[in-house]
Amino acid sequence: MKNNSKGSPTPMPFELTGAVVRHLIHPLWAKLAHPTYARYLREFERDQYLHPDDLRKLQMLRLRKQLIDAYRYVPFYRHRMTEAGLTPLDIQTHEDLRLLPVLTKRNIQDHHDLLVSSNVPPRKREQNQTGGSTGSPLQFYVDRERFDSRMASTVRHNAWAGLRIGDWHAQLWGSRYDLGDEPDPAPLWRQQFLYRNICLHTADVTEESMMRYVDVLRKYRPRSMVSYAQSAVRFAEFCTANNIRDITFDSMIVSAEMLLPGKRQILEETFRGKVFNRYGCREVSVIASECEFHSGLHVNADALIVEVEAAPNLPSGMGRVLVTDLLNRSMPLIRYEIGDLASLDTDMRCPCGRSLPLIGNIQGRTSDFLRLPSGRMIAGPSLALLAADMRDVRQVQFIQSNPEHVTLKVVAGNGYSQRTEEELRRRMQPYLEKESRLTIVTADSIPSEPSGKYRFVKNTEDTEVPAAASR
Ligand SMILES: [Zn+2]
Repeated sequence: MKNNSKGSPTPMPFELTGAVVRHLIHPLWAKLAHPTYARYLREFERDQYLHPDDLRKLQMLRLRKQLIDAYRYVPFYRHRMTEAGLTPLDIQTHEDLRLLPVLTKRNIQDHHDLLVSSNVPPRKREQNQTGGSTGSPLQFYVDRERFDSRMASTVRHNAWAGLRIGDWHAQLWGSRYDLGDEPDPAPLWRQQFLYRNICLHTADVTEESMMRYVDVLRKYRPRSMVSYAQSAVRFAEFCTANNIRDITFDSMIVSAEMLLPGKRQILEETFRGKVFNRYGCREVSVIASECEFHSGLHVNADALIVEVEAAPNLPSGMGRVLVTDLLNRSMPLIRYEIGDLASLDTDMRCPCGRSLPLIGNIQGRTSDFLRLPSGRMIAGPSLALLAADMRDVRQVQFIQSNPEHVTLKVVAGNGYSQRTEEELRRRMQPYLEKESRLTIVTADSIPSEPSGKYRFVKNTEDTEVPAAASR
C-alpha cells in the first residue's frame, strides 16, 4: 500500500493471502535479507520454555562472551573495567553484574566513538538512532545480525498476541521516521507482500485523520493493531464519541507510551479485543511484553538482561531500568540506563509456563514525574486518574519547569467553570501540599510530541533522575 501525505494507505487492487506470505514469500525474503533470522526464531521459541536455571545459564554464557569482547575490543569498557579494578572473569553471576558501572545516554553521546568495537567491520553493522522525543537524540550501531535476532524476538512476542507473519495489522505509530527500523516508510511492495502493516501515522492525529483511519480499517478489517498506547486510546475515544462500533480487533499490542490506569478497559470495551502491553525501545527493540495470560511483562531474556535497580531519590518501590544487550557486538550496551522507572516488585508469577522472567510495572520515563522542592517525586500515572471522572475536563497535561511551580494544562469539556478549577486544585492539594505553586491554564488541544507520543507529565527541567545522572 501507498501512504499519501495524510498518512492513510491507498489499497492495492489485489491481495495475496496471508498464508502465502507466511509460508513462502516471507521465508524466502528473510533467507536473503536476514539470513540468521530463522535460526534465532527457532532458538527463541524453544528457549522461552527452558527451565529457569538453564535460561540463566544461557544468559550468563552470552554475558561472558559479551564482556570478553567488550574488554578486548571496546576502549570505553576496557577503560571502565580497568578503572574499577575488574576483568570479565570477575563477573561470574548475575549479581556480579552490579559491580560494573551504569552506562548513561550522556556516556554514549560523549564517548560514541570509544564505544564502537574494533572487531566488527563497518559492513556488518548499521547506524540507528532514537528520535529524541523525550531527550536528546542518540546515535548507535546495531549489528546486521542483531537486526535478525531483534526481528525474531518481535515475531515471537507478536505470536503471544495472535499476530503472525502475513496477517494484516493496523499500525498506529508515530512520525514516519520512527516507524520500525526503516529511515522512511517501507516501499509499497514490502508493505503489501511482507510487513502487511496498515500505517496510520499518529504524529498529526485530528478528527479528519481519524475518520480516514476508520475508512481504511473498514476496507481491510485487520484483526490486530500495533499502536502507541495513548494514540490507541484517543482513537478509541473518537470511535465512541462518533458512535462508530464496527471497528474491532482481536488483539491490540500497545507500546512506546505508558498504558495509563483505566485505559486498557477503554480499549477492550471499544474494540472488543484483548490488550497486550509491550515495553521496548529503539536501542534494543522488544524488552518485555505480555503473554496471553496478561500476568505481567515477560522479559526478552534470551537476548537481554534487565535489571530494576533501586536508587536514592526515586519514588518508593521503584527502580531504574538497566538493560544489557547480550547479542549486539558492534556497540555493546552494558547496564544501559534507559531512562524509565519500573516497580521493584519481583514476586510475580505467570501460569503460561514460560520461564522468561516478569518485570514489574513500567512507571514511565524518569522525566514523566513531578519533582517537588523536598525531592519528593510524583509519578505521572498516579496523576492520571485526577480528572478521569470529571465530565467538564477532556484532557490534562502537567508541565513543570522548576520544582516550585507546576502548570496544569486543561482541555475544557462541557460545563467547565471556575468551580472545575477549584475542584482540580482541591484534588491536587494532597500531592503538592504547600511545596509547589499550581497554575491552571486552558487550551484548545494538547498536541502530541513531534514523534506522535503523548506525554502526560512534561518535565522540562531535566530529563535524568539526579541520582542516576551522577553514576
Ligand atoms: Zn506468561
